[in-house]
This record gives sequence, C-alpha cells and structure tokens, in this order.
Amino acid sequence: MADLLEEDLGTWRRTHYSVDINPNLNESEIIIMGWVSSIRDHGNIKFLTINDRFGHIQIALKKKDCSKAVLEKTEQIREHTSIAIKGKVKSEIKAPNGAEILPVEIKILSLARKASPFLIQSKKSVGIDTRLDLRALDLRRPFLQSLFNIRNTIMDSCREFLRKDGFMEVNTPKIIATATEGGAALFPIFYYEREAFLAQSPQLYKEQLTMAFENVFEIGPIFRAEPSRTNRHLSEATSIDVEKAFADYNDVMNLLERMLSYVVSKIQENNKPHLEYLNITLPDVALPFRRYRYSELIEMLQNAGESIKWGDDLAFQKLQKIQDAKVDSFYFIFDWPAAIKPFYVKPRSTVTNECESFDLMYKSLEISSGSTRVSRKEELVERMKKQGLNIGAFDYHLKVFDYGVPPHAGFGVGMERLIMSLCGVENIRDVVLYPRDIDRLSP
Ligand code: ATP
Ligand code: MG
Repeated sequence: MADLLEEDLGTWRRTHYSVDINPNLNESEIIIMGWVSSIRDHGNIKFLTINDRFGHIQIALKKKDCSKAVLEKTEQIREHTSIAIKGKVKSEIKAPNGAEILPVEIKILSLARKASPFLIQSKKSVGIDTRLDLRALDLRRPFLQSLFNIRNTIMDSCREFLRKDGFMEVNTPKIIATATEGGAALFPIFYYEREAFLAQSPQLYKEQLTMAFENVFEIGPIFRAEPSRTNRHLSEATSIDVEKAFADYNDVMNLLERMLSYVVSKIQENNKPHLEYLNITLPDVALPFRRYRYSELIEMLQNAGESIKWGDDLAFQKLQKIQDAKVDSFYFIFDWPAAIKPFYVKPRSTVTNECESFDLMYKSLEISSGSTRVSRKEELVERMKKQGLNIGAFDYHLKVFDYGVPPHAGFGVGMERLIMSLCGVENIRDVVLYPRDIDRLSP
C-alpha cells in the first residue's frame, strides 16, 4: 500500500536549500527537498518542518487552501520521510527564517516506514550502541552534523596549510609485509598464499619518500589491534602524517603548532553555526605552545605524590593529576627516554639516554607523536637491535639507507583525537562515521 504513495524524482530538481529561503523571495516559486523532521497539526492548519543538510524550513498547509492531493499525502507521512515540495515562498514573521512555504504539489520520495529509535533533535540521545547500529540515521542529528562539518574543515585546512607550506600529498600502501614498529598491534590478513598485515602507520614509507620528494604528507587510515576498551582508541583511525627533509624535531614542532593554529582559525571562519550549536569555545592556540621536557614533568608528578620514575611512560591517568594546574590546553612533552620511543627516533645523547622526540598533548590526551628520525643506516640497525627487532624483516627498508636518506623529522596526528580536543568530545566513537573497535565491525 505505502509504496504506491512514493514517486520518482522525475524532472523535479531542488531550486533552493532551506537556508536560502528568506522574505526577499516572497511569492517566488521554489522546489525544496529534504526530510520531514516534525509534523504539527492545529486543526485548520498543519505545519511540516523539512530538514536538509544546511538547516530547516517550515511548510504551512492551510486546509482550506491546499489541494486534496497535497493534504492526503501529508496524512501518510511520518518523521524521516524523504520529500520534495513545490510551492510558493511567503514571508511570515513568526516562521523560523522569516519565511515559510505554501505547498502547491508534494512528492513523497521515500517513506519512513518505522519510527526512529531515537530523537534527532535532542542533544542528549540514547546510548551510543543503539545509535551506532543505525549510524546513517544518527548522523542526521544536528550534534553530529556539527561535528562532521568541523571534521571536514579540519581535513581541508590541514591539506591547505601543508600544501601552502610546500608539502606533497602522498598515498602509501596499507597492505604491508612487516610491522612498522614491530609491535603486537598489527592485524594479520590473508594476502594470496601469504600472511600480510594492515599498516599501523605510514612511518617507514613517508621517511623513504623524503629522499624523492623532501616534504610529504598523508591523510589516511591506520589500523591498530587495540584489545583494551577505551574512549580514545579505535581499531581503524585516521592520521595526518607529515615528514620533512633537512629538518629536526624543533622544526616540525613549530610546523605542527602553526598547523593547529591555522586549523582553529579556519574552524572559526567556516563553522560559526556549528560551534554555536555545540556551545563550545575552541581551545587557546596562541603560539608558541608550552613545552615541557619529559624529565621536568616526571619531577612535577613526583612532587604531586605520584609514584613514577624517569623512564616510565607518562600514562593518561597520571597526567590527569596535573592537568588542571599546568596542562590545560595544547602543550608539548619533549626529549623522551629513547627506550620507550620507536627505533627510528634519533637518540639525543648517549649520556642522558634521551631522544629527539615529542608528543603533542591536549590536557591528558595524546594528539600527536613526532621526532627527528635516524637517517644513518648503522645507527638505525643499532637502534633496531637494542629494541630486539628482527633486522632481516626490515631489509627492504634498510637498503634504502645506502643511497643518501636526508636528515628528516616528522609527526603523526590522530585526526579523531584532534577533533575530540577541539570539540570537547569524550568518546572517540562519536567523531568517526563508522567506528571500529574490538566489539564492533559493522555497520
Ligand atoms: P596511545 O599511547 O595514545 O595509544 P600511541 O603513542 O600508540 O598512542 P602513535 O603511534 O604515537 O600512538 O600514533 C600517532 C597518533 O595517532 C597518536 O598520537 C594518536 O593521536 C593517534 N592514534 C594512535 N593510535 C590510535 C588509536 N588506536 N585510535 C585513535 N587514534 C590513535
Ligand atoms: Mg605516541
């Protein structure tokens, strides 16, 4: 029965988005398309609200003026029905945009057959698992619309910034033969008759590419088998990876903080309504960001009564202890112990056992790791031995170092972590379209 109501798009095309409708268009004939987000019946008049990607518009159906066909169609629809409306704009002070639409003809394009299990308009919604099970519908919520519009600006502005700064965008393999960092966090896959892995980072490739292109970046997926359930780890995340030739970690720390400051300025410029909806103030990105030596923070934590010693990793929970006093926005932690950073990170001094590395933090959340890389083969082999790696497995990489790998430095930024920090989101699953974690592989 219901199907008979549905019509094809035919020759109808949208003439305006909801945001384009205003009192200046009074009496114009327009076609809008979108989804029904509310229906209010007041007896002699009925209001529909139609949402599209940019906002919403009110449709006023005065029962004495509307055709029978139009009225009958509106009897059949419920929220989420996809609809096209041909009508006239009427300026109306009481309508949300100062104008509403008086429909002449309606096409029901696709009926909503069921009631939504959650409310689209409310900021607080049901549990995340219910929402993720119907993610495409969930993504219509203004909260997520705002977040993903901001995510889009972040991607765009990182690209724009890096291109302007002389970086070339690259795509490196995601199916790889050996671990990048020898970790256990790899997903094995079948590759014809062999075992292969999903890339946990473009690290070694982007380093090699500094030989050919000097300054490169990649925005792409990274895959990590993270068996623990946290609000900041995904099995598939997006990283913004940057590598620069003839540079060291100070240069790329400066680059990274300039990039973030640019990103924030672009969000401010492009996403005003989204920031207003989310009711957030973007974090302070005044340059330069604060920089703490690793050893200085260890001392701070010890003074705050934490049992921690030089050489330990700076755990999320521990950093939370000093967050309010000292580390309330973005800051760098630099000169980490060489033993807890990957083999490709350049040691700084054999006396202090530090390396030329940094993490960019937002409060207690790690946003990025970066470093000066080892560019000489002998040193790289030694670092690998020290970390107990199988040197033979890295032959394909090591042999490149016989041909003049330049001194280079770089970093990888977790895109989702960056959005969390900028938009004050607690759960990383909210800032990816279709999150993957140990419990979830669909939709
Ligand atoms: P963490 O200690 O928080 O697990 P990491 O030090 O293992 O992170 P790196 O290898 O330094 O991560 O990766 C670079 C960046 O990529 C991190 O700073 C983080 O922003 C992001 N990242 C790493 N792993 C994940 C993940 N599983 N989910 C989401 N983002 C991640
Ligand atoms: Mg790290």
